[in-house]
Amino acid sequence: MNDELLAKYESVIGLEVHVQLKTDTKMFSRSRAAFGQEPNTLTDPVVLALPGALPVVNRKAVEYGIKIALATHSTIHEMSRFARKHYFYPDLPKGYQISQYEQPLATGGRVEIWHEDRRSEIALTRIHLEEDSGKNFHREGVDESLVDYNRAGVALAEIVSEPDFRSPEQAVAYLRALRQLVRYLGICDGNMEEGSLRCDANVSIRPRGQEKLGTKTELKNLNSFKAVKLALHYEIERHVALIEQGGEVVQSTLLWDAAAGQTRVIRTKEEAHDYRYFPEPDLPVLEVPRPWIDEVAAHLEELPLDRRQRFVDQYGLTDYDAGVLTDEWNLAEYFEEVVRLGGDPKKAANWIQTELLRLLKEDGRSIDEQPMSPKVLADLLARMASGELTGRNAKVVGERMYQTGRTVDEVREELGIRPPERDESVVEAVCRQVVDAHPDETARYRDGNKRLFGFFVGQVMKQDRNQDPKLVSKVLKRVLEG
Ligand code: ADP
Ligand code: MG
Repeated sequence: MNDELLAKYESVIGLEVHVQLKTDTKMFSRSRAAFGQEPNTLTDPVVLALPGALPVVNRKAVEYGIKIALATHSTIHEMSRFARKHYFYPDLPKGYQISQYEQPLATGGRVEIWHEDRRSEIALTRIHLEEDSGKNFHREGVDESLVDYNRAGVALAEIVSEPDFRSPEQAVAYLRALRQLVRYLGICDGNMEEGSLRCDANVSIRPRGQEKLGTKTELKNLNSFKAVKLALHYEIERHVALIEQGGEVVQSTLLWDAAAGQTRVIRTKEEAHDYRYFPEPDLPVLEVPRPWIDEVAAHLEELPLDRRQRFVDQYGLTDYDAGVLTDEWNLAEYFEEVVRLGGDPKKAANWIQTELLRLLKEDGRSIDEQPMSPKVLADLLARMASGELTGRNAKVVGERMYQTGRTVDEVREELGIRPPERDESVVEAVCRQVVDAHPDETARYRDGNKRLFGFFVGQVMKQDRNQDPKLVSKVLKRVLEG
């Protein structure tokens, strides 16, 4: 679609994000919660809605809810209520989902994000607790559905944003920030592909300058950041095309079909569910007394953006470097441990970014899946700082340490790498040898072809790669020009 047409409209987006809480057991029962188990092995009478089974609130799930609420500066209500949300689908054993409706755990709040090099704030409407549904499976060519209740009853926190986003990219930046936040808090692993972080996106458009919001559509089945971005762009263009042709957007729910690259309507407003919400009679009011909130607040993890700022203030890193190193909690921990063990902060930051992250990326590994402990990296940095290892050799040694988990000395021995020669007379002897062996190049160099200098350095290093290139350059210059 042409950009001029698109530019006439402003897009408005609001996200509803489901965060699967990493509790050992489910939201309202002792049944274990886990991903990737044999179907229907993680159930019990409460999960399966057998007659007489009663729900009991999982205290850990509430604590995790409090954590998110605190981390997003939301107002936590000392009293909230669970409600039944009714709909009929095989993945929902009770015929209703226990959620929170009129009185959620928390309201208000905000999430700070970085987008296009600017900090912006996204307002939250509410955060509430609820239970997950099971999962239906439809096999290709087989005329039946299978249901797995392992996920049924798993604890969820739903985070609803205000319609504050003005582009798909900004919405994705928020989603990334939320993912980072819940991972920092240790309450969710944030895996969109496995569905532990899920997002429904609401989108509308309005002519620029207009205050009133347009009619929205809701997009489901967005299981990656890329899907969120593509689906929103697709939908925005669809809205623009409809309106430009004199039509109008029909309020509806659509599925994103990633393979086809398009959205598909699953129901319109007329067909919308009437959930017949009412207060859950089997559960008491959820009480979250002030002292509990204070207790959780006292142990709250340092938040990503705070840690990023601290890395700038405390270690003198650039904001960019601090951003890279605090992207993942584990990586930030790793960096700080290296520094605690004596690594120079800037050198450590540099090495981690240029070497370690490169190696991890090549292998598709995470920081925890490599054998190079903070201690051995600190040691490597110390040997570089003392001049015992040249930069070039440190790189070679470091890479081998990463591959094998061995210490600096073990690798040095394995590869025959010694500390660089410091005795200038020894270096000079090697330089003279090289110069004498290349009379043509020497003559050309002395005639003014200074670019040949690199060639000589290379030849000397070839004789003995343990040489320090800086010292070699200094001595060579003397030999060639003296
Ligand atoms: P519903 O009643 O359909 O659930 P809500 O008012 O609860 O709608 O809002 C659900 C989500 O949709 C929220 O994230 C909200 O910010 C967003 N939203 C609401 N109205 C619009 C709109 N006109 N355009 C885009 N997003 C919207
Ligand atoms: Mg709603």
